[in-house]
Amino acid sequence: MTEKLNLDCFMQEVKAKNPNEPEFHQAVQEVAEDIIPFVNEHPHYNQAAILKRMIEPDRIVSFRVSWEDDNGNIQVNRGYRVQYNSAIGPYKGGLRFHPSVNQSILKFLGFEQVFKNSLTTLPMGGGKGGSDFDPKGKSDREVMRFCQSFMTELHKHIGPNRDVPAGDIGVGAREIGYLFGQYKRLENEFNGTMTGKSLEFGGSLIRTEATGYGTVYFVDLMLQHRGDSVKDKTVVISGSGNVAQYAAEKVIQLGGKVVTMSDSGGFIHDPDGIDADKLAYIIDLKTVRRGRIKEYAEKYGCEYHAGKKPWSIPCDIALPCATQNELDVEDAKVLVSNGVIAVAEGANMPTYIDAIHVFHDNKIIYAPGKASNAGGVAVSGLEMSQNSLRISWNREELDQRLKEIMKAIHDQCLKYGKENGYVDYVKGANIAGFVKVANAMLAYGVV
Ligand code: NDP
Repeated sequence: MTEKLNLDCFMQEVKAKNPNEPEFHQAVQEVAEDIIPFVNEHPHYNQAAILKRMIEPDRIVSFRVSWEDDNGNIQVNRGYRVQYNSAIGPYKGGLRFHPSVNQSILKFLGFEQVFKNSLTTLPMGGGKGGSDFDPKGKSDREVMRFCQSFMTELHKHIGPNRDVPAGDIGVGAREIGYLFGQYKRLENEFNGTMTGKSLEFGGSLIRTEATGYGTVYFVDLMLQHRGDSVKDKTVVISGSGNVAQYAAEKVIQLGGKVVTMSDSGGFIHDPDGIDADKLAYIIDLKTVRRGRIKEYAEKYGCEYHAGKKPWSIPCDIALPCATQNELDVEDAKVLVSNGVIAVAEGANMPTYIDAIHVFHDNKIIYAPGKASNAGGVAVSGLEMSQNSLRISWNREELDQRLKEIMKAIHDQCLKYGKENGYVDYVKGANIAGFVKVANAMLAYGVV
């Protein structure tokens, strides 16, 4: 008989086998807290060592990226692609360009992506990649040369039926254009290998908006489940990039009031609310002019808190939409004491595990990113379908599909996470995401 798994022993083994990877340990622990009791009750998963196999990536490719800057100096960065699990479809997940990128961060992101993609109901495996390259302060030509060099290696490992990368932090429309242009040149083929493309060359409508919109649709579904909604709620958002911008837009459209946004320098607090015009200013500031959020405070005469995060501002809903580990246990306690009702992650793993426990202990409705921010990859999945079918769906059709997918994710969370009137969305998302991938792996035998 196969022995039951024990969380502490399991995590000790994970840490010993993957030293110096704290973000990866955190992501595994968050899943293992729910999945270990589940597999102990369903021993056929244990007998096949499914969880042990799932935490091991199929493969990791790491490579040198050399490029020349505008001054003629040779720069060297490191590129990666973590192909995590392809049990239910081709590897799918974004590329991140940020100086903090390392193997631990990409393994945590790839691991989470496996569960997230499974929850979308679409046939996508999980992967993630990127580089420690920092696009900030670089000229367009430098970014282009870097992207071309990066793709010169990456193209050997990706393809429409193998691995389909997209954007993430530091990889937006400009970078996707350079990357796909180089891919096409090297392969002499136009296909759906990358998502997040511009509309002119195979991109999908509402992909840009999808992660932020989906996050807010998810919050609305959680609130509706309790007979409430986003309307008239005060919302605190961190970040001012792609996810934060469109989360803010959807909150405004649904009648909520957004009072903060941030970047890595600090946050702005606008008690009157960021309306559609002010948000248009932020989108232009961050995506066209590539400026700093503090310029908003100067323009609209509101407060700017340098080096701070926005969690001390009283709110009904908190949406961390910047980066991992940006909301700690003290922040969670402050949010709870200020009366927060719901927290939903637009970013990946922005909340520390002990902060999640604070939300659970206080029965705050809390959505992990693998459920609430899955709208982005879901519309990427729809972009893949449109590319294969050589058609383009219209905006209304895609928005409707996005809403249906977020509802399907919410239903799956209810199925496995409902207990005594409270919904544990972490447990619900973990188990639902796990079951689909695990059953596919069981069917394949020992591979
Ligand atoms: P962007 O690069 O567009 O924006 C990132 C935002 O977060 C910027 O405001 C940036 O500030 C801020 N930020 C980045 N790093 C830090 C840091 N170390 N400390 C404080 N602030 C930071 O990225 P996205 O909006 O695409 O991604 C945001 C999060 O959402 C990430 O966790 C990503 O993995 C996740 N996500 C994104 C999806 C997508 O479709 N784009 C899909 C699902 C999840 P600054 O301008 O100063 O750098």
